[in-house]
Amino acid sequence: MSTPATITRSNEPDLPAVYSSVESEVRSYCRGWPTTMASARGSWVTDASGRRYLDFFAGAGALNYGHNNPILKQPLIDYLANDGIVHSLDMATEAKTHLLETFERLILRPRGLDYKVQFPGPTGANSVEAALKLARKVTGRESIISFTNAFHGMTLGALSVTGNSMKRAGAGIPLVHATPMPYDNYFGGVTEDFHWFERVLDDSGSGLNRPAAVIVETVQGEGGLNVARMEWLRGLAELCQRREILLIIDDVQMGCGRTGPFFSFEEAGIVPDIVTLSKSISGYGLPMALTLFRRDLDVWAPGEHNGTFRGHNPAFVTAAKALETYWETETFVEDTLAKGRQIRDRLDQIAAKHEGVSARGRGMAQGLKFEDAALASAACYAAFERGVLMETSGPSDEVIKLLPPLTTSEEDLDAGIDILAEAVAATVE
Ligand SMILES: *Cc1c(COP(=O)(O)O)cnc(C)c1O
Repeated sequence: MSTPATITRSNEPDLPAVYSSVESEVRSYCRGWPTTMASARGSWVTDASGRRYLDFFAGAGALNYGHNNPILKQPLIDYLANDGIVHSLDMATEAKTHLLETFERLILRPRGLDYKVQFPGPTGANSVEAALKLARKVTGRESIISFTNAFHGMTLGALSVTGNSMKRAGAGIPLVHATPMPYDNYFGGVTEDFHWFERVLDDSGSGLNRPAAVIVETVQGEGGLNVARMEWLRGLAELCQRREILLIIDDVQMGCGRTGPFFSFEEAGIVPDIVTLSKSISGYGLPMALTLFRRDLDVWAPGEHNGTFRGHNPAFVTAAKALETYWETETFVEDTLAKGRQIRDRLDQIAAKHEGVSARGRGMAQGLKFEDAALASAACYAAFERGVLMETSGPSDEVIKLLPPLTTSEEDLDAGIDILAEAVAATVE
């Protein structure tokens, strides 16, 4: 949503004057969707004029359980009404105790994951920074391997492992100690996987410093919904293990059930050394992040990494309730996988009707890729005009990305995709 292609579609006269007179030019979503949002419930957002939108954006994946989910809202209201601790840095609170116990009981233990849990600051970038810092401290090495079209956040460490050249240029200083490698299928299946990576690791003349860690997304959300194959992920995990390189899975966007299972790497049967979570971990769109790592990697000294907003207790309350509500049984996973197939079938039908359009994705992260990138932004805007919120992703914004709340009904999914189909037809013709 943030590239010039979309920005030129902006119609900001529809917004109050303070947006252009007071807010920085850096704003972007309000340009693509030039309307004032007023309220939201479940998968629906209502603007100030009373117009309703079906939300297939879901806070960029921060609202997997929908807007103002009533099951999560009530304990939050009760907590605030009872003067529960709101801000606590990393002091012990009842809300945090309950969250840690629930996370261990419902997420870590059933999956045999012997991870320690760190509370970094409340954003995905905070979690990525903590992961990179820890990997460097544990190994005593500096360099990190990242992948083409990766997205890990906007702070300097996270930006150094992010691919997008426009975002990287924003740093204004050299982004060092990171080396990009080709993501799965980067060469369209022509080059043998990991051939290049293994070769440069072995070659004393390659110029590659021995890396501390590899950081990777199982599905590149911002990078254009590029899906890594399970055997590629397994190959990467094995390579890291053989070479004693730490494997960091950035599950900020694809975790918390977006691809079906709680963690997006579960299907590959791999166990990363470090995992980042944010976006939907609070369940309610409240800022919160976690960094998980193997117990033996916990070499932090007390207070060595900190942050004022690590103890956002209202987020702990909703996070624990979300785990108890959706992750006690397998039902939610099965529903997500079934809805993912429903979305994919419909997208395949749209793609079959139009030359140069193809479907891609995993679970409930699905999208349409356009050979003519400008059509993706145009179709997205046409869908907005017809009442559906979706964003584009990929290096040229060539992919329309559907991230509906996982709680969206089958009927709403169909209704939204009907509108998308109309928008695509209207744009392509
Ligand atoms: C959104 C995202 C981040 C950054 O999270 P922020 O909360 O915006 O800092 C990092 N990694 C991935 C994969 C993301 O999707």
